[in-house]
Amino acid sequence: MALSKLSHLYMAVVTEHSKTPHNHGQLEGVAPVCLHNPSCGDVIELFVQFDQTHLTDIAFSGEGCSISTASASMMTDCVKGKSKKDVLELIERFSALVQGQHEKDQEGLGDAAFLAGVAKFPQRIKCATLAWNALKQALNEANHS
Ligand code: ZN
Repeated sequence: MALSKLSHLYMAVVTEHSKTPHNHGQLEGVAPVCLHNPSCGDVIELFVQFDQTHLTDIAFSGEGCSISTASASMMTDCVKGKSKKDVLELIERFSALVQGQHEKDQEGLGDAAFLAGVAKFPQRIKCATLAWNALKQALNEANHS
């Protein structure tokens, strides 16, 4: 696919997720992980529910730029219902992807793979990874409780 077509597609997917984010809201009875990206002003509250082995439900709220909102929306889509082990692997894949390590396996990332383009904009990487960092923190807390 031509590069210009690809970037149009990328913009369309990001815009759609930021305008109508998936899994937007809160989960009752779940304490959120709150993270802030001071370089842009993005704030995320991430609600994650685990059972013994799996991530059973996820939702997010907060205020952020289109990249951070789209990334959170894409992330919730791709990790919902996955095992904790798979979730950790997806976090690592996404982190490698936005740091420009395109040779890494992108399987399972879904629409989030479109955010590979932010690797070219170092100041936006923090926007793209905010939700994923919050998820990693929630996973750590679930594993140590
Ligand atoms: Zn941002």
